[in-house]
Amino acid sequence: MTLHIYNTASRQKEKFVPRDPKNVGMYVCGPTVWDFAHIGNARPVVIFDILARLLRIEYGNDHVNYVRNITDVEDKIIDAAKANGESIDDLTTRTTEAFHEDMAALGALPPNREPRATEHIEDMVEMIGTLIGKGHAYEAEGHVLFDVQSMPTYGKLSGRNRDDMIAGARVEIAPYKKDPADFVLWKPSTPDIVGWDSPWGRGRPGWHIECSVMSKAELGDTFDIHGGGRDLIFPHHENEVAQSCCAHGEETFAQYWVHNGFLTVEGEKMSKSLGNFRTVRELLAEAPGEALRLNMLSAHYRQPLDWTSDGVKQSKTNLDRLYTSLQSLSDVDADLDAVASDVQAALEDDINTPKALTALYALSSAANKETDPESRARLKGKLLSGGKMLGVLLQEPTDWFHNDTDDGISGDEIDTLIAERIQAKADKNYARSDEIRDNLKEQGITLEDGAGGTTWKRV
Ligand SMILES: [Zn+2]
Repeated sequence: MTLHIYNTASRQKEKFVPRDPKNVGMYVCGPTVWDFAHIGNARPVVIFDILARLLRIEYGNDHVNYVRNITDVEDKIIDAAKANGESIDDLTTRTTEAFHEDMAALGALPPNREPRATEHIEDMVEMIGTLIGKGHAYEAEGHVLFDVQSMPTYGKLSGRNRDDMIAGARVEIAPYKKDPADFVLWKPSTPDIVGWDSPWGRGRPGWHIECSVMSKAELGDTFDIHGGGRDLIFPHHENEVAQSCCAHGEETFAQYWVHNGFLTVEGEKMSKSLGNFRTVRELLAEAPGEALRLNMLSAHYRQPLDWTSDGVKQSKTNLDRLYTSLQSLSDVDADLDAVASDVQAALEDDINTPKALTALYALSSAANKETDPESRARLKGKLLSGGKMLGVLLQEPTDWFHNDTDDGISGDEIDTLIAERIQAKADKNYARSDEIRDNLKEQGITLEDGAGGTTWKRV
């Protein structure tokens, strides 16, 4: 395998060479657990799940350490808990569980490690102390701030100059800052707000220091891949680089910075004012998780993705086709040595999922035409292998086609009607058997009579 990946730090596609040839470490910024995840939050989860799967194929399951954190202390959480009238613990526990369920429904495997910010407060206090000691941070009015002028290379990752940074909406102007671009490492908490004791008084960490500390705890001072959405490049990732490099005296924090593109909904940016935030949970009520996942993979991860209901429908149809091919191969055992090398090659080329899907569809078309049993077994093996790389085609075809919906007729009811139809045919009551078939068809259920009996599909 030769993985090539676009590195935001160098602004070019590079050959991936891990620091240790046998082991890979990857850190991806995880959710702030204050509400249900929306579809934009899910994009990095699915993309880095694909990358983790690919790395595990090459380096082995036990040689990839994929770390994705949980931010469970942040002002959004404090505000949401207050608004909901629930404790912070209850809110973060509830939303973390919902996040796990939703991401599993999208076929994302759990990361190897999932540190929580509140488990690392002591480490954060220690790193902030180190930064003050080295002259990279200062205390002002109960806050500790990172002194950006102490780091000549600040701004290198995002390619921003100082004026751009200050003009950026996410830089907070405050009177106690030496420089408007200085950012908060620690801030004071009033008695009614969650806080921890520190040398600078009772307070809580800033968001950026959380990721510097958790990545160090799990992967060390420097590691291979750091990922997240491109909206995090500035200021979050820029600030992580500043904190970690200055605290450790290292020139490099992560070797490869990988960022996924933006996601819009029906052509519009998701925003509170448009009220078009689509949660994963809502979308899962409308379509199977696997169809949502396939739709997510339909655009290259660095390109913007426009999420549309037509796109989801198309993805569902594409999966129907793939599962139909697999179902037609149910009489042969898959050749387990067969590898979908075209799918893998596309993914190794900067995670080119549209090209990988084209390769998977080509395997499906070939399987539909093939008659030689050995070739069919090999194609079945390749389809399953490619599906596993992409995290799709993991169900039995019958389970996919029998997928129960909340409002439709249930699988048990269909099976009962099929049994009645078989009896009607045996009794030569063809009017009744046709009536059952037609009624089911009206409800979107297609019956197929074959040598092995009658099977059904939702269409
Ligand atoms: Zn982060």
